Amino acid sequence: MKTATQCVHFDSTDDPHCSISPPIYQTATFRQPTADEFGEYDYTRSGNPTRGLVERQIARLEGAEHACAFASGMAAITALTRLVGVGEEIIAGDDLYGGTVRLLDQILPRQGISVRYVDVTDVDAVREALNPRVKLILIETPSNPTMRVADIRALAQVARAAGALLAVDNSMLSPCFQKPLKLGADIVVHSATKFLCGHSDVTGGALVVNDYDLHRQIAFQQNAEGAGLSPFDSWLLLRGMKTLSLRVERQNESARKIAEFLSRHSAVDRVYYPGLADHPGHKIHRDQSKGDGAVISFTTGDVEVSRQVVEATQLFDIAVSFGSVGSTISLPCRMSHASIPQALRDRLAPPPDLVRISVGIEDVDDLIEDLSRAFALAAQREDAVTAACVA
Ligand SMILES: *Cc1c(COP(=O)(O)O)cnc(C)c1O
Repeated sequence: MKTATQCVHFDSTDDPHCSISPPIYQTATFRQPTADEFGEYDYTRSGNPTRGLVERQIARLEGAEHACAFASGMAAITALTRLVGVGEEIIAGDDLYGGTVRLLDQILPRQGISVRYVDVTDVDAVREALNPRVKLILIETPSNPTMRVADIRALAQVARAAGALLAVDNSMLSPCFQKPLKLGADIVVHSATKFLCGHSDVTGGALVVNDYDLHRQIAFQQNAEGAGLSPFDSWLLLRGMKTLSLRVERQNESARKIAEFLSRHSAVDRVYYPGLADHPGHKIHRDQSKGDGAVISFTTGDVEVSRQVVEATQLFDIAVSFGSVGSTISLPCRMSHASIPQALRDRLAPPPDLVRISVGIEDVDDLIEDLSRAFALAAQREDAVTAACVA
């Protein structure tokens, strides 16, 4: 079955009434037949049928055996880092979601785990950074927000040879466009808050694996720490995921047109989008993915102009996050990536004039017109400021 079909037809539940929309098992606990007999479920922290359904569905879409769903992407990444022990190391990409950097930098060292940031677009640099203590390599491709592309197949080989696990954060593309486990990764990470949910009404996360033992460790962690996705949020996520394929196809198509529009615009300095032929990772990206996604970043060369463009758009909501049906626009340096600790800002913070947009499912001509108008307004205001200074 193709992913678009899988999105709509999922594993039937064991619901005796055969409801088309799965029931929400909004319960904390389950009655046992006797004191020492247990049914399939006993307590929602350990397992819940609605969460089980969304977990099977996410695994299916990734072409994987197992998934665990968490209360947020960060809860999933926290569970991931629990696979690493005291004295062991993590190698992480050097362009990552700000919240991930905050966790890696401010929480993990307290637990005796060290983290090194490496340019993961350079396979040799990763190979050189490896040593027997490295347990996990965590990457994003394309990365958030500068859309750098790492070679998943090559990194999987390097990781395997060194006895480390490769985890790929696939939030940016969704399984419709990229299936990292098929390319050799060990673990797929999702912020389900983004494309999987698609409606900005749930925070959720997932860890997806093929290996049974790895899955048991993650499920144990999910139960022990209690960060599993709630039944209602699981249901909302299931509902959102039915239209995943339809949404991302439309978003991908519109994003391509917007990326072209931006690359032609005189106010734009540089466009970061892996679908553009001049993107340094374009070829590798096209080799490992079926789509370029709906997130585009660009710089204007001037923080003030960038801020004015962000504030002048009308159809793009100024908001963190991406992947929703509605278009959003942000200044990552001040918003989603403001949590990058001061000491790491020089290396890991995005350029201050970087604007990130997430293209929604609106009519693309309306979106382009809105951006055009925003650029024109920003230019007018800049002219006014310059005139005032000269005067
Ligand atoms: C948003 C995001 C996260 C964190 O997910 P939450 O659901 O916000 O906790 C992790 N990785 C990437 C790439 C993200 O964009």
